[in-house]
Amino acid sequence: MKSRIRRRRLGKTGLYVSELSFGAMNLRMLDTTDEAYEILNYVLDQGVNLIDTARAYNGENKSGELVESEVLVGNVIRSRTVLDEPIVIVTKGHGYTPSQFDEDLSVSLSKLGIEGQGTLRIGRNEVKLIYFYHGLNQERWETITSSGSLDRALAAKAQGIVNYIGFSSHYRNAPEVKAALDSDVFDVIELPYNLFNRSVGEDGESNLLKYAYDRDVGVINMKALGGNSMPAIYKVLREYVNIDYRAMLGFCLANPYITTVDAGARYVSEFSEDIETAASEPLQPHDIERLKAEADRIADCMHGICRECMHCLEKFACPQGVSFPAVLSVYSRYLVNKRLGKDVCEFAERYGDVREDAERCIECGECLPWCEYKLNIPVMIRSAREQLGSNVSTL
Ligand code: SF4
Ligand code: SF4
Repeated sequence: MKSRIRRRRLGKTGLYVSELSFGAMNLRMLDTTDEAYEILNYVLDQGVNLIDTARAYNGENKSGELVESEVLVGNVIRSRTVLDEPIVIVTKGHGYTPSQFDEDLSVSLSKLGIEGQGTLRIGRNEVKLIYFYHGLNQERWETITSSGSLDRALAAKAQGIVNYIGFSSHYRNAPEVKAALDSDVFDVIELPYNLFNRSVGEDGESNLLKYAYDRDVGVINMKALGGNSMPAIYKVLREYVNIDYRAMLGFCLANPYITTVDAGARYVSEFSEDIETAASEPLQPHDIERLKAEADRIADCMHGICRECMHCLEKFACPQGVSFPAVLSVYSRYLVNKRLGKDVCEFAERYGDVREDAERCIECGECLPWCEYKLNIPVMIRSAREQLGSNVSTL
């Protein structure tokens, strides 16, 4: 079947990948593994040829089954008898020293079921593996450069254990991102960018998307839809702005420096809508300007809220057993509603579901380094207690 999704060149890798790619992070948030296999097969059926996963994308799904994203991705590729081309797999590890790098990479290869050197395969199907340092920041970049890890990554590429090297990063790491791009080691980068937060693009001190593009580094765009909390918050925002999901995805697809947008859909129905957007005519400059103006009208409502991305829980568990993203989720939705002048009474009731967690927080701050959005988690939990706990009757 000829795919309806256009292709773009993934920088110096020379690979041509679909403009719309699939982020396998949310497979752990589905009800069952059958649902995960359903969407993965659908993605491949539609001609999407890049799947973005990570060693850390693990967790219990709603049926209580342990889900390892890499295992599911590997299983689906192995099960396919008709694949027209090698599927490009991005996976990421948290190994920043040479020994950790080797260990993490070895586990990922095993979980994905990748075999071979140079020409890599899962079962009978050839794949292209792009191995990422996960979540580059100042501390991790210092470890990578001082430990000699980059040489280890380059050696893995030269030996054909991986095909290409890349890294992901989040907001506010511009100096490290630029330094990493300047090292000339990396083939691909993954950055968050969306209509409501353009700080790694045109609104940043330097446009990192362009910086990567100009160095012929392929650019994967994550968080195009702003994080998992967007569906709920959207119900509120839609009353104030003329922006829908299609517009948000179309906005990212229209950016000339982005190679592929990882839309992070959970269900076939969501991904089929993403495909319709990707297959339609690109947005024009006047559409882009209108959308930016709309988004900027409510940008203040979006600051300092938890996006429910769950990245914090990939490598960290609160020593007090506080399910802090659950507390932040209720508090963030309360904040958005309050900032928009809406009735917030329902949040007193919702707070009841997370009250025990909020009250267990001793404000030790150990969670602080783990939030990708640099939220001050203990302060937000304290604010939730103060604003939603003791003042329930006055909301
Ligand atoms: S500040 Fe609170 S939520 Fe964060 S690690 Fe400490 S006890 Fe847990
Ligand atoms: S606390 Fe930060 S990292 Fe964790 S879910 Fe919220 S936004 Fe994501």
